[in-house]
Amino acid sequence: MTEKDKTIEIRWHGRGGQGAVTSAELLALAAIEEGKFAQAFPSFGPERRGAPVLVFNRVSDVNPIRARVSVTNPDIVVILDPGLIYITDVTSGLKEGGVLIINTTKTLVDITSELNGPWKLAVVNATSIAREMLGVPIVNTTMLGALVKATGIIELESLTEPLKERFGARAKGNIDACRKAYEETEIAELSGIVEKPRKTFETETFPSWQELLPGCVVTEAGNAKQYRTGDWKSERPVLDHQKCIKCGICYLFCPEGCIGQNEDGYFEANLYYCKGCGICARECWTEAIKMVEEE
Ligand code: SF4
Ligand code: SF4
Repeated sequence: MTEKDKTIEIRWHGRGGQGAVTSAELLALAAIEEGKFAQAFPSFGPERRGAPVLVFNRVSDVNPIRARVSVTNPDIVVILDPGLIYITDVTSGLKEGGVLIINTTKTLVDITSELNGPWKLAVVNATSIAREMLGVPIVNTTMLGALVKATGIIELESLTEPLKERFGARAKGNIDACRKAYEETEIAELSGIVEKPRKTFETETFPSWQELLPGCVVTEAGNAKQYRTGDWKSERPVLDHQKCIKCGICYLFCPEGCIGQNEDGYFEANLYYCKGCGICARECWTEAIKMVEEE
């Protein structure tokens, strides 16, 4: 079998609401535009916004794609949210010589020490690019640029029409974000032994969501407090006490009910549960809350 005969399999790791499904669909459409065979499909259950989701692509230059099953041994893994590398086995099944592409604020050297393995590693600060070009930290189209740079699976220009069709008047920002990520993606060839990432989040007293019963089963009254929804966020609210007038509007609008009043009367988010939606910052009329990127 030659390289051309190969079907390239891709697994996207994202969070509900980050647009991983759209990324995979745009990639498939662009590949088809080039005369290739391609498919895209997600795998998720009843997850809410912020929960980890998987999306898959298969792309072939010459062979019709008949497989309809999840990708378990990907040639390429794309990670939209850097926090996922600590809670999901993102490199599971990644082929030797494959490509791992991560949205991260870390340098290649730093991330290599956490995700060394026999693959090519590509990094880009897609969140920062998306904020700059789109005004929101939605990184799906930005990561397409990184994917093309790291793999050459399609031509960058082939994404232009699908992006225009999908985003209409908002296409330009997405095309620019895609191009900027293409230019800024850094790549290294690694040859290390596979190491699992070290867990760097603080150790909690409650079990992690992976250890809880699936389906959010209520085994005792109030056990929903065990669900640490805070490890889903990519941004956290930071309060400026000088600007806060203690009106409580943020408390009323927080959809997670995770803002409480402290003994000084300030309304503070409990970051154990805060999902980083930014609604409190949007609604605070004194602009006392600023959303900052999670490290
Ligand atoms: S809405 Fe703004 S000003 Fe009002 S309590 Fe919340 S942070 Fe303070
Ligand atoms: S970002 Fe603000 S509104 Fe959203 S969950 Fe966190 S505290 Fe609540």
